[in-house]
Amino acid sequence: MEENEAPVTLIKGGRVVDPAASFDATADLLIVDGVIREVGRVDPPAGCRVIDADGLTVAPGLVDMHVHFREPGFEYKETIAGGSQAAAAGGVTSVAAMPNTAPANDDPSVTGYMLQKARAAGLVNLYPIGAITKGLKGKELAEMGLQQQAGCVAFSDDGYVVMDSGVMRRAMEYSRAFGALIIQHAEDSGLSCGGCMNEGVHSSRLGLPGIPVESEEVIVDRDIRLAELTGGRYHVAHISAAGAVAAVAAARKKGLQVSCEAAPHHFTLTDEAVVGYDANYKMSPPLRSGIDRNAILEGLARGDITAIATDHAPHERDSKQVEFCRAANGVVGLETLLPLSLDLVREGVLGLMETLACLTCNPAQLLGIDGGTLGVGARADVVVFDPDEAWVVDPRRLHGTARNTCFAGIKVRGRVKKSLLAGRIVHSDGR
Ligand SMILES: [Zn+2]
Repeated sequence: MEENEAPVTLIKGGRVVDPAASFDATADLLIVDGVIREVGRVDPPAGCRVIDADGLTVAPGLVDMHVHFREPGFEYKETIAGGSQAAAAGGVTSVAAMPNTAPANDDPSVTGYMLQKARAAGLVNLYPIGAITKGLKGKELAEMGLQQQAGCVAFSDDGYVVMDSGVMRRAMEYSRAFGALIIQHAEDSGLSCGGCMNEGVHSSRLGLPGIPVESEEVIVDRDIRLAELTGGRYHVAHISAAGAVAAVAAARKKGLQVSCEAAPHHFTLTDEAVVGYDANYKMSPPLRSGIDRNAILEGLARGDITAIATDHAPHERDSKQVEFCRAANGVVGLETLLPLSLDLVREGVLGLMETLACLTCNPAQLLGIDGGTLGVGARADVVVFDPDEAWVVDPRRLHGTARNTCFAGIKVRGRVKKSLLAGRIVHSDGR
């Protein structure tokens, strides 16, 4: 691992794009002791390792504010080490990990355990998200203050919704003291009850019980009112419904501290994909209609959706190889995040700078974490990628242990060549 220990690295001649500084130019990046020392024209110092980035794009390591690493409790689905490998392969250097582990991350001891496992793997900066309520049960608030001291950067019951309006109100009020983001999995459990895909023409045709868009929209509407009442910082996880995008846009226009993230599967696919009953297209919220997909694209283009996050949700084979309605929700996404996001650039939805902002500095800012920038003095978390290289998503070649992608066999464009974490190469495309 001698190469990994080189203290001085020069990434030479790439197109350096740093949205945090609105910087986009051909430049060299000098890394000393894991920190960015210089950006510009740099002659390689003696003994320095040089990474030739000619024809490649150099950007801040991606920040994915929504992943599920299944440890503790579900190591048979994925471990923190395995999830870290997938992150490194996807150019993701920072992840925020949801608390639906077993036990749930509602306690500093669990937070500490996750941090320690991530440090041992050494492939990604892991930022735990603490539970809003004890045991994710939606009844009693978790000890947010202690959780934050232990390292939690935001709070969510993701996987579950905080249904009780009073509990949600108190969570927003309480979180104000810490300036922490409250992230809601917006789903009215009464409305989505028993559903396993989007409610619409396709669910009727397939004979599968549907989840209406209203399931998401009524919770987002309610929560925005609570954000206005409390002054809390409110964030909608994996937004999927046109009406919810519109509600967030209106709230932002009013000046409320409301934000949301979109997942690549929601802006790439629609519920038509479920036609073969393949459980790899089953996720929560479900793939929606073309109207909803367009609303997400427009929300990104207008800047109402400021973050792209994977909702990376690894599962073991057995929980997906059952009939559609009984299958587990969720898909992996870390390794397809960048190429699918680059489709936004190719389709003219966003510029490269704006797209990378949704993947780097914007989520970093929402979480209040370091990272997402190539500024001098910043930790050298860097991704070097070929924006045009085409490859076919082969589940067998994904990193980590889970294989449940909804993009199997799809040709994508954009390939990670190198991922650097604090100046160390943690992934190199050598296949
Ligand atoms: Zn999730």
